[in-house]
Amino acid sequence: MEETIVAPATPAGRGGVSIVRLSGKSAARVGGRLCGELPEAWSFKPCSVCDRTGSFIDSGLVVFFAAPRSYTGEDVVEIHCHGNPLIVDSVISAAISLGARVAEPGEFTKRAFLNEKIDIAQAESVADLIAAQTSSAVVAASASLSGEFSGVINETIDRLIEIRVLVEACLDFSDEDSVAVFDEESGTVKFALKKEIEDLEKILKGSLLGSKMRDGVRVVILGPPNCGKSTLLNYLAKEDVAIVSDDPGTTRDLLRVTMDLGGLPVEFVDTAGLHEDTSVGVELEGMRRALASLDTADVVVLMSCVGEKFDVPLPASCNSIRVFNKVDILSKEGGDESSLFISALTGEGVDVFIKSVFSSLGVGVGVEVPLLARRRHLDFLEKSLGFLWSSLEALESGSDLVIVAEELREAQKSLGSITRPVSSDELLGSIFSRFCIGK
Ligand code: GDP
Repeated sequence: MEETIVAPATPAGRGGVSIVRLSGKSAARVGGRLCGELPEAWSFKPCSVCDRTGSFIDSGLVVFFAAPRSYTGEDVVEIHCHGNPLIVDSVISAAISLGARVAEPGEFTKRAFLNEKIDIAQAESVADLIAAQTSSAVVAASASLSGEFSGVINETIDRLIEIRVLVEACLDFSDEDSVAVFDEESGTVKFALKKEIEDLEKILKGSLLGSKMRDGVRVVILGPPNCGKSTLLNYLAKEDVAIVSDDPGTTRDLLRVTMDLGGLPVEFVDTAGLHEDTSVGVELEGMRRALASLDTADVVVLMSCVGEKFDVPLPASCNSIRVFNKVDILSKEGGDESSLFISALTGEGVDVFIKSVFSSLGVGVGVEVPLLARRRHLDFLEKSLGFLWSSLEALESGSDLVIVAEELREAQKSLGSITRPVSSDELLGSIFSRFCIGK
């Protein structure tokens, strides 16, 4: 981390202000050459920004954060200039000519991690905060950034260490002593292990929801023409949710609308257009294709008018909800006890429909803001739980204590990988490469 890096900290484009950020050993020297004498740490100063030859680029403000009290833990200089990409480019070129180099994506945050300003889960939440699609996801990402998620994980690690200490202490005795001592302690260890398993299962459940909140879920609506698919989408968009994006889709066949449904970013995919002017057989084939191309669907809604036959063979693993529409003009009939009857026009039954979308995802409506989590976190939580179970089984079956200790060690290691992985350049590379430049 000898090199000093530079990048715009604000998005490309025109606006009131753009910020160019420098971090590293020479940040103060480069910043000083560009902006004149730097202000005291943590304060702003008006400045003229000039290149190395003294040519004027822009007038702005400069702020200096002296190491280690900065985002990266290094000396950081921020230059606030007018929001024009040409000005930003000139400031960056001038910084490069003075010895800085352009930062890689996520490099500022990576330095913050390497300088132990934040742990890896917090670093990830910086990117999640920027990418959050719903206000609940923003709240969840902020909580993770402030260390809540890491806190929960680290507290669990601390308790696992205590259990390990008990087990490992027994390993240090001679065989007979060890058995005698452990007989006394095993009840305590078993009890503590069971409690950790229970708690970790709760954390995993919350994280599962957190990962859905981060990544969003996809709900595909299939149904014959005129059964009310678009009307339902419009109703949801108008009444219950805020449309956060409206994308006509990459193929002409599919309409995708992403909504904030009770805190979860839900992308509804309307397959309207597949069925028009086609015979029934072709329609079904078209729908099968739509479904096949949407194998990432979390939930499939099979919709038709009340009394209308509609069936599509779905993969067994598929979460589906059967919905009959137009109950405002048609009397309820058909379906089974799990079928829903709604009116997409008047909104009757739509609240129950939304609840069922949530419950088929395994979550409740009106998401209590959970821990925003990534697939990576879920994997390590699941791994850790697996090791804890094995440890408990080994303990209960009277296996060698060495096995119990080893499983516990692995459980702790897996949890540790969530917040502070034992340095794996590949893992860090893959995490930070997904950041935007300047973060
Ligand atoms: P899609 O082809 O499945 O997207 O169907 P549309 O949403 O375009 O609806 C087709 C027609 O049915 C339109 O005239 C809608 O106003 C009407 N419609 C949709 N839902 C309802 C409903 O719940 N009740 C009544 N009475 N009409 C509906």
